[in-house]
Amino acid sequence: MREADVLIVGGGGAGCSAALHLALRGVRVTLLERRLVGGEATGVNYGGVRQQGRDPRGLPLARKSREIWGRLKELTGGDAEFDPCGHLKLARSAEEEAELLRWNALAEGHGLRPRMVGRNAIRAEHPYFSEAIVAGSLMEEDGSANPRLLGPLLAGAARRAGAEILEDYAVTDLAHDGRRFVALAKGEAFAAPWLLNCAGFWGGEIARRFGEPVPVEKLHPNMLVTEPLPYFIRHSLGVVGGDLYLRQIPRGNVIFGGGRGESDEGISWTRPRPDAAFGAMQRAVAVIPRLAGAMVIRSWTGTDGMMPDHFPVLGPSRTTAGLVHAFGFSGEGFQTGPGVGAVLAELVMDGRTDIPIEAFDIGRFAGQDAATRD
Ligand SMILES: Cc1cc2nc3c(=O)[nH]c(=O)nc-3n(C[C@H](O)[C@H](O)[C@H](O)COP(=O)(O)OP(=O)(O)OC[C@H]3O[C@@H](n4cnc5c(N)ncnc54)[C@H](O)[C@@H]3O)c2cc1C
Repeated sequence: MREADVLIVGGGGAGCSAALHLALRGVRVTLLERRLVGGEATGVNYGGVRQQGRDPRGLPLARKSREIWGRLKELTGGDAEFDPCGHLKLARSAEEEAELLRWNALAEGHGLRPRMVGRNAIRAEHPYFSEAIVAGSLMEEDGSANPRLLGPLLAGAARRAGAEILEDYAVTDLAHDGRRFVALAKGEAFAAPWLLNCAGFWGGEIARRFGEPVPVEKLHPNMLVTEPLPYFIRHSLGVVGGDLYLRQIPRGNVIFGGGRGESDEGISWTRPRPDAAFGAMQRAVAVIPRLAGAMVIRSWTGTDGMMPDHFPVLGPSRTTAGLVHAFGFSGEGFQTGPGVGAVLAELVMDGRTDIPIEAFDIGRFAGQDAATRD
């Protein structure tokens, strides 16, 4: 039996950040990842580091995470290519413009400073937009990062701080023996008084094992990338309603998403859908006509856990002391991953966190006939 203070199942952004923050506080932590760290949603997402447009109840967590993104280099030695290039959310109608104004007012209550860009200014500042765009709201401190880099970066720093990060260790059995948690992975047993459920979509299965089923579903955002084009899009862009998001990396490729891919039950791989890809391409060209004719060189998707209210499950279990859940980030957990790990470390070490997480309590599903849906 291999002993630790804290066991973490899942090496995405949430789990790796938790391992790092715990190890920095001297905790003996073992993270079990069934594949490679950052190999699922954390490694294949769009790369948006965005507070803009979030439900206000999620903003304190997003703010905390943004603060960590800003000192990632000091914390880990690398920056995952985090670029605070700003996130510009676009309105295509007067109603959408009013929605931007409403969110901006709410965000200001959280200390954020979004800047409204009106009809004339948006043309002057971004002459490449079509007439379809009537206004925008710019969050200058938002930006993007390279998803491929975040998991390995956090895991590497966690290892250097003393954490045990085990890849290719799928947890096949998990129980509480009345005293501590025991996980079986690759024929070895691991034990600890704390268990962090950071297993992404698959976190629903772990919660179910401990008598807390939740209605988590698979989410497969459809992604595309073009050939390199002359660099002209400075900000990461989104539209009200979320059916298109788009950014250009300095090398020139335009990465964009919209619509949903798919997966098959029993097969772990996901795949993008051509109809979703064509829809996103049409919407992209409608917003930026200059993209017409750009060659798409790759399309992909991945799997995140989607909750019915779009809030994650984050906080202590209601059935089992020592179990803390952090999964179901509903398409928004790349930005929050670093902050989630810090919150998990606070919950373990201090028994509390300053970040309001009540809206994320797993208890909100208690009594519902919930199921994890493939
Ligand atoms: C295509 C796509 C685009 C997205 N775009 C954005 C975006 O722009 N901005 C944003 O903020 N969010 C985005 N998201 C959402 C974001 O990527 C996720 O919310 C976030 O990465 C989830 O992190 P996680 O650590 O909870 O889960 P994951 O990254 O899924 O990590 C969970 C880990 O648990 C492991 N695991 C599961 N079961 C077991 C087991 N039994 N034993 C051992 N290990 C196990 C998995 O292998 C996996 O590595 C996007 C998601 C996708 C799929």
